[in-house]
This record gives sequence, structure tokens and C-alpha cells, in this order.
Amino acid sequence: MSTAYNNQLVFTQKDKCRVCYTCIRECPVKAIRIVNGQAMVMNERCIGCGNCVKVCSQNAKYFLDTKDYVNRLLESDDKVAAIVAPSFPAEFNEIDDFKVFVGMIRALGFDYVSEVSFGADLVAKEYHKRHIERKNQKGEISSDCPAIVFYVKHYHPNLVADLTPVASPMVAMTRVMKKKYSDDLKIVFIGPCIAKKAESQEVDVAITFTELRQLFRQQKIMSSMTDPTDFDPPKAGKGSVFPVSRGLLQASGIREDVSDGRIIVAEGRVNFRDAIKEFENGLIRDHNLELLCCEGCIMGPGMSKGGKRYARRSRITNYTYEKLRTLDEEQWQKDIDEFLELDLSQEFMPEDRRFPAPSREVIQKILQSMGKYKLQDHLNCGACGYDTCEDHAIAIANGFAEVEMCLPHNIEKLHNLIEDLNISNDKLASAREALKQSEKLAHMGQLSAGIAHELNNPLGVITMYSNILKEEAAEDDPVREDLELIVEQTARCKKIVSGLLNFARKNQVNPIETDMVQFTERSIASIIHPDNIAVKLTKEIDNPIAEIDQDQFMQVLTNLEKNAVEAMPDGGTLSIHLEGSQNEVQIKISDTGTGISKENMEKIFTPFFTTKGVGKGTGLGLPLIYGIVKMHRGKISVTSNNDPEKGQTGTHFHISLPRKSEQNA
Ligand code: ADP
Ligand code: MG
Repeated sequence: MSTAYNNQLVFTQKDKCRVCYTCIRECPVKAIRIVNGQAMVMNERCIGCGNCVKVCSQNAKYFLDTKDYVNRLLESDDKVAAIVAPSFPAEFNEIDDFKVFVGMIRALGFDYVSEVSFGADLVAKEYHKRHIERKNQKGEISSDCPAIVFYVKHYHPNLVADLTPVASPMVAMTRVMKKKYSDDLKIVFIGPCIAKKAESQEVDVAITFTELRQLFRQQKIMSSMTDPTDFDPPKAGKGSVFPVSRGLLQASGIREDVSDGRIIVAEGRVNFRDAIKEFENGLIRDHNLELLCCEGCIMGPGMSKGGKRYARRSRITNYTYEKLRTLDEEQWQKDIDEFLELDLSQEFMPEDRRFPAPSREVIQKILQSMGKYKLQDHLNCGACGYDTCEDHAIAIANGFAEVEMCLPHNIEKLHNLIEDLNISNDKLASAREALKQSEKLAHMGQLSAGIAHELNNPLGVITMYSNILKEEAAEDDPVREDLELIVEQTARCKKIVSGLLNFARKNQVNPIETDMVQFTERSIASIIHPDNIAVKLTKEIDNPIAEIDQDQFMQVLTNLEKNAVEAMPDGGTLSIHLEGSQNEVQIKISDTGTGISKENMEKIFTPFFTTKGVGKGTGLGLPLIYGIVKMHRGKISVTSNNDPEKGQTGTHFHISLPRKSEQNA
């Protein structure tokens, strides 16, 4: 009874996996599931090809170790034979004389050491016979690679009947050895393959060449200290070329030429699947398929890592050449004849392990969750390990894969995140700007208070004396005109000074409950506006009451209204809208005026910024408004359009005012 039959063949070394998805990409049957950031092998889906073991750069995948079972067999009283796969010269290139290699295996305690190649000779003959007999029938799929056989049994069960019903060289050689030596002989297969461990119950145990190396090390068996011995009979002929691709065909004498081009050779995880698919679809039904899961057995997962394919290949052909040169043809023919009657048949049973396909809607939904709405969104980049986005979605539906494995989707998410961060950054910058603005205003306030206070008295004196002088001057006195100018300009100075005083005084508020509707109506009544400007007040407010400093807030409204009127020299509409929520009153003041340019938007709250001509604007209105609104714990914002091409020009100021003042909040 084979040790590994039905056992799990490939495992994941916990925590070594860095989730690069290479194993998924290389797995021909996608038998890998991502769990907790680890790529785990799903035994029920695995065909034991060992591709994942070969490709994992982190050595996070390892295969079933059956060395101990070999040791136990060798320690028992049973007779044990080693049958060695023909790819051994490709692995043990450091041993010049193959007879030393045979001696080393014998030194482990084996009673017999023979070559599987003789089994390959027999199997090749059988294939040849079938090929001729079945010349005009449909083709078959060769059954010498166990991973291919598992693949057909599990994933194309309807093709099991098309597998050549002939034993593999390993099983054929097992039968040969038992017939030649004893039925009770225990058989240990040594080769390059992991799937062999689970291929047949007729073989007691299969180990890989790398495990054989470990046994040599454990037992301290070295080539330099080993006596050479030859393989035990029966000895192989051409079957030794079997492990290089097309080996079986060469060994069987079937030539792949044009006149009999019914043979397709495909190796490697993509090609063999394509060949089977085309065979299944009836495109190449009259062809025989010679398929290998690896790139030839010489690149099997049980070989040491890093070997060079063509160097390995040349060592096999050199070995075979040397073998055929020294072959005792007569003896070989006799051996072959001895086993001509041996039963080489092999039965295969389907074992369907396919999953029912998820519904179209489920797949579609998953694809959408990865941002794939149209066919053009399917990049099929393969970064997730699956060939197509659709395959990836199906794997997600089956619970093997995750949305996060999609690289383009992750990149897009990252871009969005960066955009969000940029927006937050912008918000932060404008908050910082606002803070700077209030600090500036606070300083301005102090400065203004000082200046205004100092200027107020002398201005009063100038106003008084210039008025007295003007009164005293005769009507036709040329001085009179100058005095009028002095009076006028002094009045202007007073206006600026009183603006500064207002600006400075904003630090104290005296809030009282106020009906905001009536208050706004009063503010409108107090401003002068030409007839070509319509003023509209609209309200959506049940409770009009808010606590405000009436003097200061009157300045807010009248200043905003005046600005609006001044922005509409050719007429327009000034709209004031009041809205109320439970805790706030919203005041929106809009005009259909010139609008504010983008550059000016940043400056309008800066003291003394004005676009109005000399003697017209002071540039103190908006800074004053800003200060008063802030003192009421409110917010003021502005939007504006000065480009007629973008629609109606105009400016909208929006004030949010808490109903309760700070003292009563
Ligand atoms: P002033 O009115 O003395 O110029 P403000 O501080 O009130 O000072 O306004 C500063 C500037 O902001 C104005 O000169 C004007 O350029 C701009 N501005 C303010 N309100 C409006 C508005 N409703 N429409 C267009 N521009 C405006
Ligand atoms: Mg103004």
C-alpha cells in the first residue's frame, strides 16, 4: 500500500508566503486559496504537479516527505528494490560514473537497484502496438504523466476514456520487478516527480531525487567512498531517453513526420491545457496527445532547484548514447521477450472535482466591486494570478480569492485616496489661511483703535476751524473754494476714522433678542438705491428670533447691501433670503452685479482692499463684517461669478448665525 495515496502532496509553510500570487499564476488548476494573507494549497483540487513548489521564491511551498517510510522499509525484514527514474543523470551530474550512483543507493540498504527505463521500453512497445492497431481511429491522451492523469480525471472526467489504458513506466517496472524477483518485493520509486507519490497503490513508496540526496546525507554516503556496481537486471535500452520531451515517442519508434503527423506533443502548464481543450472540442480528435505537466521530467519539482534545462537534456542523451553503445542487444531482446506477456493494462476512473459555475449575476456583481463595468474594464493583466478578470471573479465567488488581489483596482483606490488627501490638505490650507486672516484682523483692530483715537480729536479741531473760516470768508473770496475742499476732505477723514473705530470696537458685543425679519427690513429701508435696482426679501423662517448686537449687525447688513448696490451700476436685483433651522439663522445676500474676479476673492476680507475709485471705497467694510460675524460665532462665505460666459454674473454672501449668543449658548 502506497504511503501517499490520497494524501495531501503540497503544503504551505506558514508565514513564509508574501502573497505575490505567483503560485496561483503557475497552478494549472488554480488549487490555491488566499486565507489570512497566506496562499494555501487546496488538496482536493491539487493535481500534485509541484509547479508552485518550483516557482515560490520564498520557499513557502513544500511537498510531502516520504523518506521515513523508506527508512522503515529498509529496516524491516522485507526485500526492498529501488527503481530509479531515467532522469537521474540530469540530477546527479556531479557523479561521473553512474555505477557509483547505483552503489550509493545500494549502500542505503536496498536489495535491488533497477532502472525504470526498462519499464519505459515495455510501455513504449505497447504504445507503438496501439498506435499501429488504432491507425484510423480517434487519438488518445498518453497516461505516463500522473499529473496529467489527475488533471483529466478531476477536470475533464468525460475524457478519462481517452487516456491510453496502459500503465506508466513506473508501474510497468514495478510489475516487472515483482514478477522477476518476488511478489512480496517492496518497491521504492526514486524520481523527479511529486505526483508519483500518489499515482499508484502498486508502488510502496515514491521519493524524489532531492529526498534521495537527503538520505545520502543522513547515512553519510559519499560518492568518493562508494564502490561502483551495475543496475540489477532487467536492463534498459532506449527507454532511457524517455524523460526528455518526446522521449516516449522516440523510445516507441513512432516518428513524428508529415505522413504520420498524428502526434501532438505539449508540455508545460499552459500548453497541455490548450491541447486538452482543443482535443475535447473535437479540433484534434484524430491526434495522439503526448502531454507533460512540467517542461519534461528533467525539470520536475523533485529535482534540485536551479538546474539548467538544456545541460540536463544533454546529460540524458549522453547517458543513453553510452548505454546503447555498450548494450548487450541479445540479452535486452531476451528480457523484453520474457515480459512480453506481462499485463501492462491500467484502468482509470473519473473523479469529477469541478465546481458548478456561479451565476452570471454573481460574477457581474463581483466584477463591478472591482470597478469592472464594461468589457474594456477587463484588463486581464494577470497580476492576481488568474488569466482573466472573469476567472478571478469566479474564484472570488467560490471563496478562493479576494477582491484586493486586483492590482489595477488597488491602484485606482490609491489614486482616489491621494485625491481625498489632497482635498483635506486644501481644506487645511484654507483653514490656516482663515486663521491668519483673523490674526491679522486682530492686529489691525488694535492698530486702528490707536490711530482712530489719536486722529479723532485733531480732526474735530480741523473741522471746526475750517468751518469757522469758511463762514467768515466773503462769498467771492477765492480762499473760500480751498476752505470748502478742506471741509470736504476732513469729512472724508472722519468717515475713515469712524470706520476704523467700528472695526476696532467689534471686540465687544452686546447681544439682545431680535426679530431678524423686521431687523432685515429695517436694514433695507436704510440704504439708498436707484430705481433700476429691485430689492427682494424672501423668508423661510418660522422662528425669526436670534441674539445679536443690533448696532454691529446693522453694519453687517447695510455694508453687504451697499456693496451689492455698488456692484450693479447698470441696475439689477438685490435678493435677501432668510432661512431658519433649530439652532441657526441663515442670511443670504445676492446680487446680479459684476461679480468678483478669482484673484480678488482672496483679498476682499483684507483691510483697505478696495476696487472702488479714490474717495469712494475704504476697503474696511468686509473686514469689519468678518470680524462682527466671528464675534457672533457665525460663519461667512462668498461665491461669485464675474464671467458672463459662465452664466448670470453676481455675488452671493452667506451668513450662518447661531440663534444664541456666546453668553447664552
Ligand atoms: P469697499 O466697499 O470700501 O471697497 P469692502 O471691504 O466692502 O470695501 O469691499 C472690498 C471689495 O470687495 C470691493 O472694493 C469690491 O471689489 C469687492 N466686493 C465686495 N462686495 C462685492 C459685491 N457684492 N460685488 C462685487 N464686488 C464686491
Ligand atoms: Mg463696502
